[in-house]
Amino acid sequence: MGTVETVGGPIDAEALGTTLVHEHLKARDEAVFAQWPHAKALAVEEPLHEADGEGAHRIADRLARKLVELGVKTICDPSAMFLGRDVEFMRRISADTGLQVVSCTGIYTYDHLPQFLLTRDPDQIAELFVHDIETGIQGTEIKAAFIKCAADEPGVTENVEKVHRAAARASARTGAPIMAHSRPASETGPRQIEIFEEEGVEMDRVQIAHTGDSDDLDYIERVLDKGVFVGMDRYGLELYLPYDRRQATVLALLERGYENRMFLSADHCATLDWFPVSVAEQMLAAGMAKDWSMTLVPERVLPDLRKAGMTAGQEQTMMVENPKRWLAGDR
Ligand SMILES: [Zn+2]
Repeated sequence: MGTVETVGGPIDAEALGTTLVHEHLKARDEAVFAQWPHAKALAVEEPLHEADGEGAHRIADRLARKLVELGVKTICDPSAMFLGRDVEFMRRISADTGLQVVSCTGIYTYDHLPQFLLTRDPDQIAELFVHDIETGIQGTEIKAAFIKCAADEPGVTENVEKVHRAAARASARTGAPIMAHSRPASETGPRQIEIFEEEGVEMDRVQIAHTGDSDDLDYIERVLDKGVFVGMDRYGLELYLPYDRRQATVLALLERGYENRMFLSADHCATLDWFPVSVAEQMLAAGMAKDWSMTLVPERVLPDLRKAGMTAGQEQTMMVENPKRWLAGDR
């Protein structure tokens, strides 16, 4: 098994260790951030508070240290274009805390694309992704280890399909795996997979993120039967599915032998600028993101699963072996 690129340089895949496959050290609407850098983001903590640049660094640093204490060695940070990807920020957090951070290339859009990308075809967009994977991101030598794309409520629109084809072609050229944000409530997964199949991507290179937002086992098995990985990766985001139902779904899938296809994570954002304080307060008061934290999986999800019968072997497979196989491949 080969090496995996991190923000601190390439590491042996064996050194990944316990990995949270979907956590954001910082998430920003990058256009707003570039134009109005004084605008603040929010940290979903007790109490909720706003954070400027230094505050965002402090919060990400503290969470990263806590993860290391809890035995997490690596996170994958899927902040791509439109989520304010900032690999220099990731590199600094990683260097200061010892948490290994795996970064990505790709585009996080539910439909909108800027003119620059509207006028380009999938091959030309794939070129951009390949650049990040082979040359480096944002003028650094930090290389992307996976490719992000997304489909959500609008479905797999023409623009979203173009991004998926570009991701597939960059994956085919480089061997980099794909993480596809999905929306089970809109059943986007099967169509996303279909595009990857048409493009000849090996299914074991594909992760359908947020599949755990559903507890419809028929839907989930329809996705799993294609041979992809699935993200049970939004623990704490009660607005999509409550904690207990997420746990029951993972346990049911473990019983059916799918431990080698699942990732556990929280999709937490150390800071996020999507919501003004008043809206975030209402959402938190309504319990929509109860206990949502980067540390929720090691602190509570794993202990609860162990109590419910998850074996040490199943845990090792989901937390260590699956990230390694997805990132480095079996080849
Ligand atoms: Zn995410």
